[in-house]
Amino acid sequence: MARTPHLTSRLQGFGTTIFAQMSALAAETGALNLGQGFPDTDGPEEVREAAVAALRSGQHNQYPPLPGQLDLRTAIAEHQERFWNLRFDPATEVLVTAGATEALAAAMLAFCEVGDDVVVFDPTYDSYAAGIAMAGARIRPVVLRPGADGRFEFDEEELRRAFTPRTRLMLLNTPHNPTGKVFTTDELQLIADLCIEHNVLAITDEVYEHLVFDGTHQPLAAFSGADGSTMAERTLTVSSAGKSFSFTGWKIGWVSGPAHYVAAIRTAKQFLTFVNGGPFQPAVAVGLRLSDDYFEGFRNELAEKRDLLCGGLAAAGFDVLRPEGTYFATADISPLGAEDGIQFCLDLPGRAGVVAVPSAVFHQDRRDGATQIRFCFAKRTEMLQQAADQLVAAFG
Ligand code: PMP
Ligand code: GLN
Repeated sequence: MARTPHLTSRLQGFGTTIFAQMSALAAETGALNLGQGFPDTDGPEEVREAAVAALRSGQHNQYPPLPGQLDLRTAIAEHQERFWNLRFDPATEVLVTAGATEALAAAMLAFCEVGDDVVVFDPTYDSYAAGIAMAGARIRPVVLRPGADGRFEFDEEELRRAFTPRTRLMLLNTPHNPTGKVFTTDELQLIADLCIEHNVLAITDEVYEHLVFDGTHQPLAAFSGADGSTMAERTLTVSSAGKSFSFTGWKIGWVSGPAHYVAAIRTAKQFLTFVNGGPFQPAVAVGLRLSDDYFEGFRNELAEKRDLLCGGLAAAGFDVLRPEGTYFATADISPLGAEDGIQFCLDLPGRAGVVAVPSAVFHQDRRDGATQIRFCFAKRTEMLQQAADQLVAAFG
């Protein structure tokens, strides 16, 4: 790849994110955008109105406190206990960040020495590799591949080999973007055992915690080792209002974990953004305190959309890798006689009036996942139906 002038060697090759590229392609071509992961409708009215009220009150338009407003930190701690039975002290164990993205980047900067290894499952959400590179650390990928039952799996020995004396962090994402994989109890126990055995810290990105359709979400922080030590003492759990409340533009995220690790992340975070989103913080507290009905309704609605999109993709002739969670479905283009997902996605607006994202770009080695492409189904039912119809007309 050509070198970008003036850009540091750490960031060479990262280019422009696939999401920006594909959304630009959708805008240019007028194609239905199932590429970048964002909902096409706003989240709950009471949450939106709480932001309006906060903005008008004149109480929330200056810098919030560095760790985030106390009421939001309290609402985050309440949420973690209500859904996952994890207890955090809002005073010291919760930090509000500029989206999950900042929490993850600040964690890399806080914990990694130059040359340390960070173990990740590959494909990874695109900011991970860049965050690791910005910290001067090295990415140690463990590849997920579809198994016989269509579920994404990893090889246990490959994961064991990835843990070495150089490993500083395990960066886990469950439910997983882009594959839609929800890690099983056995897989999480293995990850926990390896972290404990090798004295490695875990960062878990759980932004899709409320979007698990098959099975249940299990935070890594809830696991313990055979020696009685807990993952809670070595895990930092990251999440965001973007995915759970469908306000991706607000960029309110958070991290919860042991006070000394949260303090380390805060040290890095204060020099990235210091704080953000004053009037959105009280609104997100309202969201986190919504009744169980909201969270169930949201999940059920997305489960129906998953079925609609996956049905359409199958009817169009793709091999569908049905997601257990998240709002993304992966389709394999091989049955359509295609091999190159990147080219396929570039041609897709012209052929079917639809935008998708090639999974290869989420892999360290682009040959992995070359025939897989990702569709987002957090869209209005009519839009998904239209996309399905267009795909069937083009390929079915
Ligand atoms: N992690 C994953 C797995 C994601 O899919 C996203 C996109 N929402 C993020 C992190 C970034 O979240 P945010 O927009 O809150 O920074
Ligand atoms: N998380 C979203 C996705 O996976 C995109 C977020 C972004 O554009 N940075 O598509």
